[in-house]
Amino acid sequence: MTFQAFQLNSAVMAGITAAGYTRPTPIQTQAVPKVMAGGDLMGLAQTGTGKTAAFALPILHRLVTGDADPNRSHDRTNDRRSIGRGSDKHDCPRALILAPTRELAEQIHQSIELLGRKTRLSSIALYGGVNINPQIQKLRRGVDIIVACPGRLLDHLNRRTVAFPNLEVLVLDEADHMFDMGFLPDIRRIIGRLPGKRQTLLFSATMPDEIRVLANEVLNRPATVQI
Ligand code: AMP
Repeated sequence: MTFQAFQLNSAVMAGITAAGYTRPTPIQTQAVPKVMAGGDLMGLAQTGTGKTAAFALPILHRLVTGDADPNRSHDRTNDRRSIGRGSDKHDCPRALILAPTRELAEQIHQSIELLGRKTRLSSIALYGGVNINPQIQKLRRGVDIIVACPGRLLDHLNRRTVAFPNLEVLVLDEADHMFDMGFLPDIRRIIGRLPGKRQTLLFSATMPDEIRVLANEVLNRPATVQI
């Protein structure tokens, strides 16, 4: 299997080259085509398997090409993002990735920046323990992809410094760790404020009953990949 076989947008392919990836890992081989097809996914995989790129590449492809949304068919690769910022509802985030720790959120954000560097898409990491004001300012300018820890994201939702009217993709990463850390009530509150029509991807290394229940609630006829 090669990255070419995925038929990703050329800007995303350039990001893969910039990252130095030559071949997809097994989870990428399995998951990327399924995520690109637009359906929900349950991924049983540990960190270190390349699961971040397994969801980041199809998300970048979707956002840059406007795939799966006929109203957004223009190519964002050469889009002038500075024009109309804040006034255009399309500047609301289109992808949300929830992660249990600030370290993981920062790592996912860095991977997205690296893989997406040849696109004009923007990403932000939102987590607690740091001043909220710079986050608010960046959100005001508009971001395409948010990587967040549940507590700080709820804080932003409650302050109305973020909203998700145009959300297309939700990723729950390391769902079992989010459960261990007591985030399931926050996650359910967050999901209650997202559009129901969306693609949802859930990754977990283990499948405790609570995660099975959550998966049944949030995933619609998911494909499963297991590494
Ligand atoms: P992850 O499981 O997403 O935390 O990724 C583990 C590490 O593998 C990270 O340092 C990635 O940059 C790297 N990685 C992901 N996909 C590939 C690939 N296809 N080829 C080489 N390295 C990769």
